[in-house]
Amino acid sequence: MILILLGPPGAGKGTQAQRIVETRGVPQLSTGDMLRAAVASGSALGKKVKAVLDRGDLVSDKIIEEIITARIKEPDCKKGFILDGAVRTVGQAEMIDRVLKKQKRSLDVVIELVVDEEELVNRLRTRIAEAQQTGQPLRSDDNEETFRNRQRVYREQTAPLIPYYEKQGKLRKVDGMGSIDEVAAEIDAVLDGIG
Ligand code: AMP
Repeated sequence: MILILLGPPGAGKGTQAQRIVETRGVPQLSTGDMLRAAVASGSALGKKVKAVLDRGDLVSDKIIEEIITARIKEPDCKKGFILDGAVRTVGQAEMIDRVLKKQKRSLDVVIELVVDEEELVNRLRTRIAEAQQTGQPLRSDDNEETFRNRQRVYREQTAPLIPYYEKQGKLRKVDGMGSIDEVAAEIDAVLDGIG
């Protein structure tokens, strides 16, 4: 099963991807996690992308192509994988189609988590307040200004993927505003439907 999770920052893609890893046994490929790991390790790639991540802008399609093509060649991706926030421009979507075609594979489904952006900002504020109280670490891009930029980048550069995948007949919309369990149940129903 090859699946894409689409939705704005804070929609819960990562949380739902982890659930799917547990229930379906396919790995989660989060380019955000991979890039943050590169920043934390201080690698050449990490140094190159740190400022971009901190601003909430997108790294280049070329970097994403390199990361993704290397990752999906690994043995654990043989039975499928979840692309979690890993496809963010039409150029990246075309690249994924191309790479999969070369491997004689194809995308099964794209699940869009439909959410209310203002509500996501409220949730972020709560998360920041809780982190400040408990001393929990926050991501360096988890502040309101960067978050709003990430939402804008989503609208401008990633939302065009919705008609792209609609045209391919692969898009399924799921209400992302319910509880984690409610959203998971809706996703399960979609995944059961594709076999
Ligand atoms: P995320 O954890 O998915 O919210 O990603 C965090 C940050 O990593 C984003 O704000 C971008 O700066 C960068 N990033 C992650 N995935 C991609 C991608 N597929 N294309 C471009 N930039 C990305």
